[in-house]
Amino acid sequence: MCLAKNQKNKNFKKIHYYTKNKFYNNLNTSKKITIVIDAGHGGHDPGAIGIQGLQEKKVNIEIALRLKNLLNHDSLFCTILTRNNDSYLSLTKRKQFLKNNHVNLLISIHADSSRKQYVSGASVWMVSKTRINREIDDYLKKKPAILFSKKIENIFNENKYDFFLKKTILDLQFNNFQKMELDLSQKILEQLKKNTKLNKTYPNYASLSILSSINTPSILIETGFITNFLEEKKLRTADHQNKIASSIYLGLKNYFNHSINF
Ligand SMILES: [Zn+2]
Repeated sequence: MCLAKNQKNKNFKKIHYYTKNKFYNNLNTSKKITIVIDAGHGGHDPGAIGIQGLQEKKVNIEIALRLKNLLNHDSLFCTILTRNNDSYLSLTKRKQFLKNNHVNLLISIHADSSRKQYVSGASVWMVSKTRINREIDDYLKKKPAILFSKKIENIFNENKYDFFLKKTILDLQFNNFQKMELDLSQKILEQLKKNTKLNKTYPNYASLSILSSINTPSILIETGFITNFLEEKKLRTADHQNKIASSIYLGLKNYFNHSINF
């Protein structure tokens, strides 16, 4: 069992209410790698819908739960789900949780869509540098409450008015995050290609809000195109959902077994 390091129990309760996740009652004292698994959409937001009627939100939660089980059976990891059922959770609340907690990684699970029904395959996404620069500037101007690692918190507290020092630290931190996200994404793609077609063989960058937290490395995985007839058929099967989940798990395992970046 694992828990995020949190200084604001009120927010824990809020998230607890939305996710009904029992793990939020204590603080994380373990050395495990804490991964937030974010199943995209949910509740009244179905996400993309396939030609045969499959809703993206269902695929996302199925793969997220399977990934959670794999990670929780590995002593290296512990997990927190942003939602564990068909509930709606706004993007703001998902991001608020990251602002108030210190976790090692966010993985957001989605399924892709296109007007061109022949398009298929999985892809992995990271946040663009332009977006993060904007987020860092916003943070330095507006100073919203964001929980950073203890060491960064200490430096910020000792240098409250040193704008340039803070910016430098956040820039350096983002460079490290980006390197980590890139290496991890490549490890996940290596595994995914054994089990499914890839739409993009390299990680991609975009200005995605869910990936834009300046205190958490984050990647988004598009598990396939729900608008492709054959891929929609596969994405609804437990067998394929297991394959995608275990590809992500093995990618994580391969990355963290050889990494000192956490
Ligand atoms: Zn989506």
